[in-house]
Amino acid sequence: MTKKEWIDAKLKIVKELEILTDEEVIIQEHLINDNYLVPHDNLIFLCSRQNFNSRINSLLHEAGHVIIFHLSDRDFTDSQKGITNEYKIDFLQQEILAWNYGYELSNSLDLDIDYDLFNKHARKHLLEYIRWVEL
Ligand SMILES: [Zn+2]
Repeated sequence: MTKKEWIDAKLKIVKELEILTDEEVIIQEHLINDNYLVPHDNLIFLCSRQNFNSRINSLLHEAGHVIIFHLSDRDFTDSQKGITNEYKIDFLQQEILAWNYGYELSNSLDLDIDYDLFNKHARKHLLEYIRWVEL
């Protein structure tokens, strides 16, 4: 993925999320090695040290979290009750869902994604969470 393709894909994703949520979506690229969503602000942080192929995968995953936050009516256990097994399992389910919504989003927007890399990326992150759940 070239820089231009990354910028085009990023704009398409933001536009689609804004249509879905009816709110402004902001993407902030930073040098910190972490990607995450600040849900109530629709603010996605992405690590700019990633190449564009990895960055688009991270963005699709965080976009999946935006979709879950705004559009899912499932009631996931929150961390206010402590890091219980229920919380961990719900957290893991949300991570799996976010990758899935990200995948569907890329398909519906007809983005040119390296799906081998996307799946590798998803498996690596899910494995980290599975190990955390098992602790
Ligand atoms: Zn996630």
